[in-house]
Amino acid sequence: MAFKLPPLPFATNALEPHISKRALEFHHGRHHDAYVKTLNLLVEGKPYEKMALEDIIRRSAGNPGERAVFNHAAQAWNHEFFWNGMQSHGGGEPRGAIGDRIAESFGSYAAFRAAFLEAATGHFGSGWVWLVMDVDDLAVYSLPDAGNPLSTDRVPLLACDVWEHAYYLDYQNRRRAFVESFLDHLVDWDFVAARLARARETRAPARAAAR
Ligand code: FE
Repeated sequence: MAFKLPPLPFATNALEPHISKRALEFHHGRHHDAYVKTLNLLVEGKPYEKMALEDIIRRSAGNPGERAVFNHAAQAWNHEFFWNGMQSHGGGEPRGAIGDRIAESFGSYAAFRAAFLEAATGHFGSGWVWLVMDVDDLAVYSLPDAGNPLSTDRVPLLACDVWEHAYYLDYQNRRRAFVESFLDHLVDWDFVAARLARARETRAPARAAAR
């Protein structure tokens, strides 16, 4: 079965004024779509065809002969994850368990925000900024191109696309302004909290067994 472009979890104008309808239509309808279509061509007739995107990413990561497959599978997965981590009227300092966890790991929400912005603005060229669960601690870092934390066994909690195509129509070269909008107005912290809860559940049995 061919991979399909997943629909956006919101209307194309839902993130305005922070991400315009036009930018979202290009980003989802052209860029994300192209990754999915090319992936289908690359996996046709191969075992990858029947695998989940996450398994393709883990299997093809670090294999030079499978670089194109990795790039397109990871870009397909990363974009869907990016859309799911945003909502209209989101962003700002989260409350509850995820807020506590961020304060514990980074010192404060302000320190987390600064670290995320630094990762985004300090990243040279195309890539992604990630908030991940790394063993038992939260971490922020950037990865180049289609880079995805699943290939190093870290659990992705939130992603921000810092390829120019993500922000150029609305922000031109102002990547920092785009990522500030993402953090201050768009992050769906309920999504991040749900990912964190799931990460804890899957790690709990392993910890219990190690005791
Ligand atoms: Fe993108």
